[in-house]
Amino acid sequence: MKAFFYESAMLRGMKVVHVIPIAKGAKGELSYFSLKDYAVGSIVEVPIRNKNVHAIVTRVEDVKDAKTRLRTQQFQVKKIKSREGTSLLHPSFVSAVRKIAAYYACSDSAVYYALTSQKLLAEIAKLNEIESQPFHQSDTKPEKMLLQATRRERVEEYKNIIRSEFAKKKTTILCVPTIQDAEVLEKELSKGIEKYTVSFTSALTKNKLIANWNTVAKEKHPLLIIVTSSFLFVSRGDIGTMLLEREQTASYIGQQKPYLHTRKAVEYIAEASGARLVLADLPLSVDSIYRYQEGIYDEFAPLKKRVPQSVHIRTLDMRELDKKNKEEKKSFLAIHPEAAAIIEDTLEKEERCAVYVARRGLSPITICLDCGNTVKDPITGAPVVLYKGKKENVFVSHASGTVRSAHERCTYCTSWKLQSYGIGIEKVQEELENLFPETPIVTVARDETPTHKKVVSRMEEFYSKKGALLLATEMALPYLSKAVQTSVIVSIDALLSIPEWNSFERVFSIIMKLKENTESHFVLQTRKPEQYVLQHATEGTVSEFYKEELAVRKKFSYPPYGTLIRVTAEGSPKSVEKDMSMVEKEFDADGFGGLSDLMHVGSGKYRMHGYIRIPETEWPRSAVVQKLRSLPLSVSVSVDPTSIL
Ligand SMILES: [Zn+2]
Repeated sequence: MKAFFYESAMLRGMKVVHVIPIAKGAKGELSYFSLKDYAVGSIVEVPIRNKNVHAIVTRVEDVKDAKTRLRTQQFQVKKIKSREGTSLLHPSFVSAVRKIAAYYACSDSAVYYALTSQKLLAEIAKLNEIESQPFHQSDTKPEKMLLQATRRERVEEYKNIIRSEFAKKKTTILCVPTIQDAEVLEKELSKGIEKYTVSFTSALTKNKLIANWNTVAKEKHPLLIIVTSSFLFVSRGDIGTMLLEREQTASYIGQQKPYLHTRKAVEYIAEASGARLVLADLPLSVDSIYRYQEGIYDEFAPLKKRVPQSVHIRTLDMRELDKKNKEEKKSFLAIHPEAAAIIEDTLEKEERCAVYVARRGLSPITICLDCGNTVKDPITGAPVVLYKGKKENVFVSHASGTVRSAHERCTYCTSWKLQSYGIGIEKVQEELENLFPETPIVTVARDETPTHKKVVSRMEEFYSKKGALLLATEMALPYLSKAVQTSVIVSIDALLSIPEWNSFERVFSIIMKLKENTESHFVLQTRKPEQYVLQHATEGTVSEFYKEELAVRKKFSYPPYGTLIRVTAEGSPKSVEKDMSMVEKEFDADGFGGLSDLMHVGSGKYRMHGYIRIPETEWPRSAVVQKLRSLPLSVSVSVDPTSIL
C-alpha cells in the first residue's frame, strides 16, 4: 500500500520537508510532504496534535531520495499549514544550532527555543524575508579575541570596531546580557549612526521589534545590531564581527534546560557565519583566560596583568569586631563602625554611596541550637531565609516561593531554640536606618524591585539626589551607570562557600565591578580576609587571581579542565537506583566517574547525580551525545553545570 503511494504519479515533484518545532519540550525532527520547496531556515506552521506550532525547516529532499528512509519511519502526511514559509533564519544559524545542540547533548528544538524569541516569531506574517546576501564561508577560521578593559574603554573600542566594519561594508552584532545593557549601549553607540542601529530585547513593543526586523531584512547599508540572548537568531549575510559584552556574567547562563551558556552559543554562531568574535569584560571569565593560554583565543589588546586603581581601599576584618562586641556583651553588628564613619563622611559631603549585601531577607540561614538541624523548606529541602514580616518574622523559601510564620519549633527535636545566622539586606537596612535616620535609602533587590522598570526608576531616584544612599544586591550591578564616591561591601563571604566551582570567580567579578564604579573610597567587610580572591580583587592583581584560580581548578579537575556532564535521575528510590545503574553501565567506558548520595528532594521524590568527565578537546563526542540523547525521561543531562549538586 505504502509503496504504491510513493510510486504514484501524483507525488512526482513532491518534496519531503524536515522541520524542527520551536516548542518547549519538543523532541526531534518531524517530516511533512510539500509541493513547495522551502529554503533551509524558513519558518513554517505545522500541525502537531491539535495545535499549530512554529517550526524551522532544516532539510528538504525529493520524495524519491527520501522514500527508502520514509518507508521505515513514522512521519506526518499532513500538509504544512504555513502561508508561504518565510525565510527568516540564516543558514549559518541553522548549522550553528546543530552544533550547539550536540555540545549540550540536547535536541535542536531546545536550542531553537532558547535562542529565538516567541514574541517576534508570532508576528511571522509581518516579517520580511532576509534578502539573500552573498555569504562566503572562507577557508580560514575566523579570529577569536579577548578584550579586557573597563566599561568606558570597551565602549570606545566598540565604536572603533563598528566604524571599521562599516568601512568594509560589514555588520556588527553586539550581544548583551540584560535589557539595561542594551538600552544604555544603544544610546552610547548609535550617535551619528541612528539610522543603522537596531536593537532587539524583550522590553521592546511588538511593533518596534517588527520594524527593527524589517530593517535587518531590507537595509542595504551595514548595521549595528544589539541583541539579548533570545534574539541571537537575528542575522544576515554580512556579519563582520560579533561582540559579547560582559562575557563573564552569570546572567548568560540559561534559566531552563538545557542551561545554554550564551558564550558557547555565540562561539558557534560566529564561527558558522564566518565572523570575528570578540569577548569583552573586566574581569574576563576564567574559562576565556584558559582558552587564551591554550592558544584558542588571541588578545585584542594586550591583556592587563594588574588593573591600576586610584581609590582608597580599606579591608575590615569583622572577626575582631565580633570578638570585641562579645567581650563587651554588645549585640552583633552588620556594619563596622569604621565603615559607618566613611558612609557618614560621604553623605555629609553630599556625595553618593552604594552599600552592597550578598543576601536577601534578614538572615539567610536558621539553625536549631539544640540539635544542629537547619530549618528547611519541606517541598524542595532548601534552607529557608528569615524575612521581616508585617506582624511577625517569616520563613521564605526562594526555591519554592512558600512563606510561613517563623514562630515554630525544630522539626527534628521540637526545641524552640532556633537561631538565625548571616547578614541579609533587611538587617543592613535596619542598621542604616538607625545610623542615618535623616537619609532616605534607595533599595534595589529582587523582592523590592522585581522588574527592569522598577530598578530603572529606583536608580534614577538614586542618581537624582545629592548625598544619596543605595542599598543593593548583585541585581543592581548592570544599572550602576554613573560612578559613586563610596562603595561598601557589607557582606560577600556567604558567596565564597556556595558549592559551585565558579563561586570565587563570581566574587572576584562583583568586587572588581563595584570598585571600577567607585571614585574615592572602597570598603570591604569580611571574616575571611586571608582568601586569595579577596586579596587579588582589592589589589586589582587580575593575572595573579587567574593563576591561583586555574591551579585550584586543575587540582580538582573542575572546568575548564575537562568537560563535566552531570546525569540526574529523579523519582522513587527504587527507580532512581535502577536508572543510575543503567547509566553507570552505559557510560562505563566513557569516563563515568562516580555517583552522588541519594538525596530527598521532598514529596517522596529522590534524586541522584552521576558524573562523566571527558577531556575538553574531545567534547562533543558523537557516540556519547547519541547515548545521552536517548536516555529515558526520568533522567536529565546537564553539560557544564555550574554546580556539582
Ligand atoms: Zn533541633
